Amino acid sequence: MALRNIVKEGDEILSKRAKPVSDINKRIEELLDDMIETMRANDGVGLAAPQVGVLKRIFVVEVDEKIYELINPEILETDGIQTGDEGCLSVPGYIGTVERPAFLKMKGLDRNGKEIEIEGSGLLAVALSHEYDHLEGVLFVSKALELQEIEATEE
Ligand code: ZN
Repeated sequence: MALRNIVKEGDEILSKRAKPVSDINKRIEELLDDMIETMRANDGVGLAAPQVGVLKRIFVVEVDEKIYELINPEILETDGIQTGDEGCLSVPGYIGTVERPAFLKMKGLDRNGKEIEIEGSGLLAVALSHEYDHLEGVLFVSKALELQEIEATEE
């Protein structure tokens, strides 16, 4: 496993639509492992492949000490709205107030190519929605009702 560099706002890869994964091979498994390591090293709740410079439809999320990995995710169902503050490892130094689904259900593939479903509310729904947006080339700052500058945590 290895840490990967996180792409920051301004890099055009973050505004592109990521491409579906056609073949889940060893490189994809390594990418998932690296993404988890990179997310944890940066105290993130989630990380999408474009954020490490790979324009593929893959993200990882960690909520309540449980890791979720999803390849080629599709949104099956959303319900309600929750409004809260969130940040993004690609936009250091900012927190924004964003409306997200209160409940969200997705399907996709796991690292074995098996179809799985993930559903959640609260922070998990926020994280899934936020990471899915990355695959569509959307950053939270473009959706934020309010944006607040905080002390940057540059490393
Ligand atoms: Zn993000």
